[in-house]
Amino acid sequence: MRNYDVVVVGAGGAGLRTAIECARDSSLRVAVVSKVYPTRSHTGAAQGGLNAALGNATSQDSPEFHAFDTVKGSDFLADQDAVYFMCKHAPEVVYELDRWGVPFSRMQDGRIAQRPFGGASFPRTVYSADRTGHVLLHTLFEQALARDNIDFFNEFFLLDLLHNGQRVKGVVLYDIRNGEVVNLRARAVVLATGGFARIYWQRSTNATGNTGDGVAVALLNGLPLKDMEFIQFHPTGLAKTGILLSEACRGEGGYLINKLGERFMYRYAPEKMELAPRDMVSRAIEYEIREGRGFGEGTSAYVHLDLRHLGEEKIKERLPQVRQLAIDFEGVDPVHDPVPIRPTAHYCMGGIHVENYMTSSTPLEGLYAVGECACVSVHGANRLGGNSLIELLVFGKFCGISAREYVKQVDFLELTPGEERKGAEFIEKLMRREGNQKLAEVRRKMGDVTWQKVGIFRDESSLQSAYEELSELLQRWELIPVVDKSRIFNTNLVEVIELRNMLHLARAVAYCALHRRESRGGHYREDYPERDDENFLKHTLVRQEGDKLSVEYREVRITHHQPAERKY
Ligand SMILES: Cc1cc2nc3c(=O)[nH]c(=O)nc-3n(C[C@H](O)[C@H](O)[C@H](O)COP(=O)(O)OP(=O)(O)OC[C@H]3O[C@@H](n4cnc5c(N)ncnc54)[C@H](O)[C@@H]3O)c2cc1C
Repeated sequence: MRNYDVVVVGAGGAGLRTAIECARDSSLRVAVVSKVYPTRSHTGAAQGGLNAALGNATSQDSPEFHAFDTVKGSDFLADQDAVYFMCKHAPEVVYELDRWGVPFSRMQDGRIAQRPFGGASFPRTVYSADRTGHVLLHTLFEQALARDNIDFFNEFFLLDLLHNGQRVKGVVLYDIRNGEVVNLRARAVVLATGGFARIYWQRSTNATGNTGDGVAVALLNGLPLKDMEFIQFHPTGLAKTGILLSEACRGEGGYLINKLGERFMYRYAPEKMELAPRDMVSRAIEYEIREGRGFGEGTSAYVHLDLRHLGEEKIKERLPQVRQLAIDFEGVDPVHDPVPIRPTAHYCMGGIHVENYMTSSTPLEGLYAVGECACVSVHGANRLGGNSLIELLVFGKFCGISAREYVKQVDFLELTPGEERKGAEFIEKLMRREGNQKLAEVRRKMGDVTWQKVGIFRDESSLQSAYEELSELLQRWELIPVVDKSRIFNTNLVEVIELRNMLHLARAVAYCALHRRESRGGHYREDYPERDDENFLKHTLVRQEGDKLSVEYREVRITHHQPAERKY
């Protein structure tokens, strides 16, 4: 067993930024754990960019406008003090990245360029062509590697947390490379394990590893999750695969066109058109398809994203990856043809409940959560494009500062013999398990249930039946054997655990959605189509005890803007 002052689980943007900040104190030892090699984390797939009111594209922009846009985009469910904090610190973390070597796209005069994005009053999104996440992740990884008090545990899988009910003690890891279980003792643990939009298995923009392991481990250890019902569906997923075409397509001026050749967004958001927030654009596309104005039928229906008028030069310069994805996965070159697209599950606004946004601390002492696995909440019911990457950096930095200071005040806690054996016993039991259920079948069934019943449109009966079916799938999960008996790179074993995690989270999403009888942001109830501030201007907290879920509610912190109808 090894001891680390801070163990950060997750090596995406959130985990790396936090680790770098902790390691600034050279007397501390920091561990970064990742189930994939760090540069394969999903942050590397981000295309469009990150928001910071630098005022380069127009001097009219300010952190206050950024905050207002974020609050309005959130359908007034974000905690406004946290939003103002993020927007105020956004420029400084972007300049930090610039100095660390992120090759941002530039304006003629050499300043960092900014592009328009959905729901934003001004061009505010800082980018590096359409590979922003890739360059950001690599730069952060370089910075982390340069600090010799950070140790990497690559291809180690978080199985569980160790704690005494009040304070965290460490983590239980499974070494994917050789099948061994390793316990790390820690004074502080930071969960930065990313989102869980893979619960929509068949239609998601997310990496297959975005299975919400950290969020599930928190839930199974009795910690509350917040606002789980709010899932973001991105409007422009490739029709056949759900792979993302960045919002930058619309930011750079792309049109959405239906079968009749109409730019149909005029019906739904006459002012902002294609650049309305994602929840509105996704619903608009699905309405068009329902009304028979889409191409194709049923699950293979779609509308067109037309980029042709941007011209070959601009497409190749600003959207090279978008173009390549359309060619590789849809067989269409956007320079010459419109691209078939349809909404796809993209982002989880909800996650591990963070008590204090300035420190990112959870209700369990010494445990922190940052990035997509956390719910601060700055995105409320709907996240604006470009606001996730900036969240990782701002809250990663301040979480790192808090954890760094916290660990100086506390000692390591002893592990009991039972805790030391916990992980190994779990793995042994799983390896010996017998049963007649198949991993791929249960996972596909989960994807069908979430997409059809907890999707873009929801109602009481669809959610109730989703909750019941997901509970049943959890029982079937107990009968999925690990067919591969080897110890070396047993991805079968890992996938069985990931499926358990996704099933618990999918069920929590359905349960919270069932209890929110209104429509707000990404959560749209056909039986309650209006927003209901009187009863639901509040955060949902869900907990699990044994097999039973329960919800309670928390006030939203409204410090600057009173809720108003959201028009674009
Ligand atoms: C295709 C795509 C494009 C996007 N584009 C943008 C954009 O342009 N702008 C924007 O603001 N946002 C964008 N987003 C959202 C944004 O990229 C993510 O929300 C963000 O990168 C998440 O970062 P993270 O560090 O929280 O998690 P991730 O980058 O997902 O990293 C999670 C880390 O946790 C580790 N991990 C997970 N489970 C375990 C486990 N059990 N054991 C050990 N380690 C574990 C993983 O190995 C990984 O290192 C995009 C998302 C997608 C999917």
